[in-house]
Amino acid sequence: MMNTVDVALLKKYDRPGPRYTSYPTAPVWTEEFGEKEAREEMARSNASKTPRDLSLYFHIPFCESLCYFCGCSTIITRDKAKAEEYNDFLAREMGVVAPLLDRNRRVVQLHLGGGTPSSLTPAQTRTLFRNINDHFTVDYKDGEISVEIDPREASNHYLETLKTVGVNRISMGVQDFDPAVQTAVHRIQPLELTERVFRKCRELAFHSINIDLIYGLPFQTVESFSRTLDQIIALSPDRIAVFNYAHVPWLKKHMVLIRESTLPPPDVKFALISLIGEKLEKAGYRFIGMDHFAKPDDELFLAQVDKTLYRNFQGYTTKKNADLLGLGVTAISMFDEAYWQNVKALPDYSARTLSGRLGVFRGFRLSKDDRMRREIISRIMCDLEIDRKKVLAPFGESFDAYFSKEIGVLEGFVPDGLIEIHPDRIRITALGRIFLRNIAMVFDAYLKEAPKGPLFSRTL
Ligand code: SF4
Repeated sequence: MMNTVDVALLKKYDRPGPRYTSYPTAPVWTEEFGEKEAREEMARSNASKTPRDLSLYFHIPFCESLCYFCGCSTIITRDKAKAEEYNDFLAREMGVVAPLLDRNRRVVQLHLGGGTPSSLTPAQTRTLFRNINDHFTVDYKDGEISVEIDPREASNHYLETLKTVGVNRISMGVQDFDPAVQTAVHRIQPLELTERVFRKCRELAFHSINIDLIYGLPFQTVESFSRTLDQIIALSPDRIAVFNYAHVPWLKKHMVLIRESTLPPPDVKFALISLIGEKLEKAGYRFIGMDHFAKPDDELFLAQVDKTLYRNFQGYTTKKNADLLGLGVTAISMFDEAYWQNVKALPDYSARTLSGRLGVFRGFRLSKDDRMRREIISRIMCDLEIDRKKVLAPFGESFDAYFSKEIGVLEGFVPDGLIEIHPDRIRITALGRIFLRNIAMVFDAYLKEAPKGPLFSRTL
């Protein structure tokens, strides 16, 4: 049971807020930034004295059925011919964008997400990797080559194909094993099926396996989610991500299929958050930051200890100095000084690629102020502390002088036990980890100017 302090904290801090996979966040990007600006940023990044490595993200939008909690950009179909055609669009996009980037820039991270990348057949997957290799210089030896799979669609042949093309990391969606929850969210995925796929991945010796769970789904209770966590811990994945379900039916219309009355109330969500932390840490996992846990020998945890962990649109990464290029419908690119996003509708995307244009429809160029705030938010999310002396040194600014107003706001978190303010650093406490988004929001200059209406999910 929660005590009264916990309930009071919940009420105080449960509000809409960004997840900060980028800063500034996507709602403030504009259509004034388009193809011309994206081309300029790529040219600028090539010309820098030490060009950064590359990270590639390919968005595969297809899924065979709709999970009602889904916040991704998906197209529901079982027609494999659509994926065949889409592979061709991706090849054309690579043909336009790859020549804009120096071929010597190493691809140190390559990620297939979606949607469901496992909706591509083994032959289509081999074609995609052949096209990637024709256009980019991928470091298969030391790079992170990862694919999100849906265990319901991942045959042994498909998994073997991933291994053959050079994939070394697997991320699989599970969400919750409880039958009542699975029925309510329209995703039936028995434990035995997940176990089979997991064992096959282990047999193929992928370097790392991640499992995604979600808390805050309909009918979840502390007891039911505790069972799911036990079943996951028994599998022993290298990383576990436990996301907070974002119920945003005003953005994702299909979410109305989840009745709000079936969602766990805030006090149960808080109890679930506490349960997740306690159980996973007892099982030997370490907290990485927003929703993520990893084994102590995992490179994400080692990077957190070394303070070299970074966060981008793909989540946590050790590849700090890489520019992220997103390909495919809705894909997001994040370069050092600019972000942009491809069009969201497949007909628009296909029309653009067929006419040899980039898919960019909106973006944002970061000012020095934006980049400093991004750095502070990254440190909060990754290091769980801010080094007051060092954090703005690369920008030639003093954290204490530049952010004196924000430090004043942070002082308000101290009596609640969320942060400690020391002369040399600001540290997020164990309790404060639950409220990371609220703490990061202090440094977000755009929240005050955000257009009216709900844009973000709630922070808890
Ligand atoms: S499989 Fe994944 S991307 Fe597809 S609908 Fe379900 S949650 Fe969304």
